[in-house]
Amino acid sequence: MPSRPVLLLLSSLLLCPALPTLGADPAWKKAEFTGKPLDGLRVALDIGHYRLKPGAMSARGVPELSFNLATARAIAPVLEKAGAKVILVNADGTVSSLAERPEIAAKAGADCFISIHHDSVNDKYLRKWTHEGVERDYADNFRGYSVFASAKSAKAEKSRELALRVGAALHGSGLRPTLHHAEPIQGENRPLLDEKTGVYEFSDLVVLKSATIPAILLECGVIIHREEELLAQRPDYQDLIAHALVKTLAEVFPAKGKEKKGLKSLFGGKR
Ligand SMILES: [Zn+2]
Repeated sequence: MPSRPVLLLLSSLLLCPALPTLGADPAWKKAEFTGKPLDGLRVALDIGHYRLKPGAMSARGVPELSFNLATARAIAPVLEKAGAKVILVNADGTVSSLAERPEIAAKAGADCFISIHHDSVNDKYLRKWTHEGVERDYADNFRGYSVFASAKSAKAEKSRELALRVGAALHGSGLRPTLHHAEPIQGENRPLLDEKTGVYEFSDLVVLKSATIPAILLECGVIIHREEELLAQRPDYQDLIAHALVKTLAEVFPAKGKEKKGLKSLFGGKR
């Protein structure tokens, strides 16, 4: 006779014939792809912040740089599986100059630049809690992703298109944006390009306005929020974002793969 835990497992399987992936949000819809929709595309993934100034602090005291690095490392293999060549900018966390980042990307021949970040909120929302015996700041008011483009960058129009499509793809994947950057207070007050999908204009962001290639900044989640901090670390969440990026990049840069196919049909195909 099976032991009690085995019986429990069996009965739970019988009750739930179509078990979802462990813990996956039922509202999530991963943008699956087949083949190599990004064939020939070179994508720069910038890991936001650096070791000496590691960015925002999470509700549990983990610096943003760790989140940015982990998420970029999760996104890169998915883009590569889709056929892209990924250039990781600031992989060792030592690039302190913001303007240098898109420059590194452009020198490596990148077609676009995506800066990966994780978010915080205005200090007025901070509250105290004790986690593992240490008193820390948290704010559970806002959660969600956000996307930024600069109207001052050399490729402003394409950057804006990229940002809007990333926002739409994330929203279409079942994620929801945070709108707290639009709050009319000092340090925020960012104009929204699209409220529904969480896309903002932030023209003076140095890392974007100095870019010579289409460039966006993606805040993957609000890590001062106690639940979202945990969500942002989940591989399935990072994978969902990665697949939304593949979908977007294939839409915005369709020519890369087709160019080759076009040439092949001209010179190498049937006559
Ligand atoms: Zn950041």
